[in-house]
Amino acid sequence: MSGPAQRRPVALVTGGSRGIGRAVVNRLAEDGYDVAFVYRSNTDAALAVVDEASDKGANVVSRKLDVTDFDQVQEFVQHVERNVGSIAAVVNSAGITKDSPLVVMDNQDWHDVIEVNLTGLYNIARSVVRGFMRRRAGSLVTVSSVAGIHGNFAQTNYSASKAGMIGFTKSFAKEIGRYGARANVVAPGLVNTDMSSVLTAERTEKILAGITLGRSGTAEEVAELVVFLASDRSSYITGQVFQIDGGVTL
Ligand code: NAP
Repeated sequence: MSGPAQRRPVALVTGGSRGIGRAVVNRLAEDGYDVAFVYRSNTDAALAVVDEASDKGANVVSRKLDVTDFDQVQEFVQHVERNVGSIAAVVNSAGITKDSPLVVMDNQDWHDVIEVNLTGLYNIARSVVRGFMRRRAGSLVTVSSVAGIHGNFAQTNYSASKAGMIGFTKSFAKEIGRYGARANVVAPGLVNTDMSSVLTAERTEKILAGITLGRSGTAEEVAELVVFLASDRSSYITGQVFQIDGGVTL
């Protein structure tokens, strides 16, 4: 007779409806996770991801919410823990850009980018940290950017938010390490998604010229690293920043 069915681990992904987050949701589903993800506005895209990941055998729930709203994030985390299961892994991929040189930057564009990219990370981490500590387990992976390490023209707001995510994650890793929980950063270079599709052809050409591998990355390539870090396969890695950029920073 076979024993009780093994429970699937549960992962929570922000920005799971498109781009890197979408690839992460699918990769997690393939790896045997049940997945909860959030998105801000594009419900059609989210429903497509629910279908894709469900086809891989995962129990998938999605919620339209704004990661800048702490109460909404906290309520969803509680909902997932009650109805899907204890959250073993969190992937913070929700992010935006609002590029312009600082000299002409709109004040609101500064605040919006910091709020979504950095305060969004705070909101999700603050909502899961107690569970991580209580269960003495958990892994958070946040998607930063090479712009947060090296800077980028017309991205002072974005680079500041992405650098902030790195400092946040290192401190967070130190706080939760003794509880057996981990936090790491993935910093991609140019990845083929809707976010990078807004770049002008001239700008894309210029970036490609500096990439050692001579091409942009795919969301699936980034998801591979993210899911490795989210899982127990990376059990002795914490507080680290992994660049996945085709060698643009060599
Ligand atoms: P994307 O294709 O534009 O997808 C962004 C995702 O985040 C969507 O699911 C979007 O939901 C969600 N989102 C945005 N604002 C949100 C908010 N306030 N609350 C909840 N969800 C929100 O972006 P991507 O290229 O996959 O980027 C993912 C992450 O990788 C970002 O943090 C980005 O900074 C980072 N990154 C990307 C690149 C690149 O070249 N693509 C390079 C380096 C780093 P809706 O569609 O519903 O709005």
